[in-house]
Amino acid sequence: MKILVAIKRVVDYAVKIRVKSDKSGVETLNVKMSMNPFCEIALEEALRIKQSGLASEVVAVSMGPSQCVDTLRTGLAMGADRGIHVESTAALYPLTVAKLLKALVDVEKPGVIILGKQAIDDDCNQTGQMVAGLLGWPQGTFASKVLLDMEKQVATVEREVDDGLETLCLDLPAVITTDLRLNQPRYATLPNIMKAKSKVIKKYTPQELNVEVKSDIEIVEVTEPPKRKAGVIVSSVDELIDKLRNEAHVI
Ligand code: AMP
Repeated sequence: MKILVAIKRVVDYAVKIRVKSDKSGVETLNVKMSMNPFCEIALEEALRIKQSGLASEVVAVSMGPSQCVDTLRTGLAMGADRGIHVESTAALYPLTVAKLLKALVDVEKPGVIILGKQAIDDDCNQTGQMVAGLLGWPQGTFASKVLLDMEKQVATVEREVDDGLETLCLDLPAVITTDLRLNQPRYATLPNIMKAKSKVIKKYTPQELNVEVKSDIEIVEVTEPPKRKAGVIVSSVDELIDKLRNEAHVI
């Protein structure tokens, strides 16, 4: 069985985000970009499944500008067998990414697709659900534990929900999205970084996959959150109550 893993290139989680002066989005020029942390977890899970002998190949897919190849190389250095880059300079929103993934499923025929539960740049948390819907496959979202039974052709997915743990049994093929506590992703070792340079990355354009890049969403404006006002130290409980009542109007 083949596992397809979607890995997105995003602004590194440790970078302080700056909004562009024209408010059209977030500054990405000369900013450190990395693999979306939830996608690292997705790839790690796929690699563990392969290491346990339940999958024969892990294929990493990234969509976006030419620099996505760096993200794919990181994925290949972690252990993915090969990469697929769908190149597009236009912004790709979840529905388009889901359509492109569906088109790749038609070519690659994976038994499982693993995605991050959300990308930390757009925080959409939509792509996994949309691709499952488009394919008509069952979905186990926010997985905190994944077990595959290849004989029965099912995946058991444990997910953290508000009142505890929910366990789902999905018929394969299926879509899984990963939560934070699923695993601890590995670091790429130097020999594997060297090996990754010779692994294959196949390129597609959205046109070659018969997907039109368009969006029904228009980003009207991106602004920074309002600056927090400095706090004040009150000298008595009476003063605190007075401020809460007459300034903050919360009591
Ligand atoms: P989102 O729905 O945008 O929050 O993204 C959820 C997940 O979909 C990500 O963690 C990735 O696994 C996948 N994904 C979204 N956009 C892309 C992309 N451009 N390239 C590869 N994977 C993506």
